[in-house]
Amino acid sequence: MSFIEMKNICKKYAGAEKNSVTDFNLSIEEGEFIAFVGPSGCGKSTTLRMIAGFEEITSGDFYIDGKRMNTVLPRDRGISMVFQNYALYPHMTVEKNISYGLKNMKVPADEIKKKVDWAIEILGLSEYRYRKPKNLSGGQRQRVALGRAIVKNQKLFLMDEPLSNLDAKLRVSMRSEISKLHRQLGSTTIYVTHDQVEAMTMADRIVIMKDGVIQQVGKPMDLYEHPANKFVAGFIGSPQMNFYAVKVTGTTMIFSDGNKMHLPESVVSKLNGRQGAFILGIRGEDIKLDPQNLDLYKDNIMSATVDSVEVMGNENNLYFNFGGTGSVARVSKYEISKPGDTIDFTFVPSRMHFFDTQTEESLF
Ligand code: ADP
Ligand code: MG
Repeated sequence: MSFIEMKNICKKYAGAEKNSVTDFNLSIEEGEFIAFVGPSGCGKSTTLRMIAGFEEITSGDFYIDGKRMNTVLPRDRGISMVFQNYALYPHMTVEKNISYGLKNMKVPADEIKKKVDWAIEILGLSEYRYRKPKNLSGGQRQRVALGRAIVKNQKLFLMDEPLSNLDAKLRVSMRSEISKLHRQLGSTTIYVTHDQVEAMTMADRIVIMKDGVIQQVGKPMDLYEHPANKFVAGFIGSPQMNFYAVKVTGTTMIFSDGNKMHLPESVVSKLNGRQGAFILGIRGEDIKLDPQNLDLYKDNIMSATVDSVEVMGNENNLYFNFGGTGSVARVSKYEISKPGDTIDFTFVPSRMHFFDTQTEESLF
């Protein structure tokens, strides 16, 4: 049995018409950093709160370290939790905020001091030890909240959107601080976020949810390269993957605007005899405009007119209409185009994703 086992966990809130979480199955190994990601309302917090014990599990079984936890009180589950709104005590100093929970747990004073010193050191809060929350920046407050969680020395950390109150730059630096902290402490962590970039950059494995149902569990690059369905393909990655309604006949793929592409044997064999209507997906970086790729795929050059350009500094996003829909290509900063330019491009065949039009499941 893994450190955490969740078997067919369902949650139906009293009075609700449908489940908020349905048949959630997951095993987590000790020391893993797991991210729950998905759009607002998909059931991430509900799942986390069932793990913490703040919300009753309607059905299913939940184990920590082999012990069934469904009805164990939150304080007896060996968990510490960091919330989005920090929930610091405004009248207490940094030091007092961090030590408060330990005092309540009746930890001896010398041990408390040792732990608080350690947390203050590890989180870089030494200068702020005697300050109150109102005199701290958002990032410092978030670190105090982390400090309060880590001194409890629990086996499982739960974090619910801990960075969403911070500005963009601070979010990026706190991301790596939390990752570093996880590497130092090695404690099993479940991190809830609606931000796919946080999930991609921080997690060992990602659990992606939609409407209370797990869509896929995997390492960040597995989800990126091998999305199980169109939802995962569209949720992970920015700008979003391009999707097209296409028809495949033999080795020809026809787009809804009449454009045709020739499918090489490598793609046809993956389709394994399937013909007809599909959803084609291709990421912006797999639409190529550079001379080498245009030469390599010279039988399959398409053209379009650029509608708009996003200059990102390190790269450019080119927006254009193709295949009956708005499309985006991510190109290097050296490939400059402006609205109105005609561009030639090609889709890298090995990077094409095909989804069933009905189920939206990935075909390979
Ligand atoms: P997320 O954290 O992914 O944004 P939540 O877990 O908060 O999503 O919510 C999942 C679903 O459960 C939503 O439809 C939400 O409206 C519903 N929900 C959340 N909390 C309650 C509650 N206390 N009572 C009834 N429904 C709730
Ligand atoms: Mg939530």
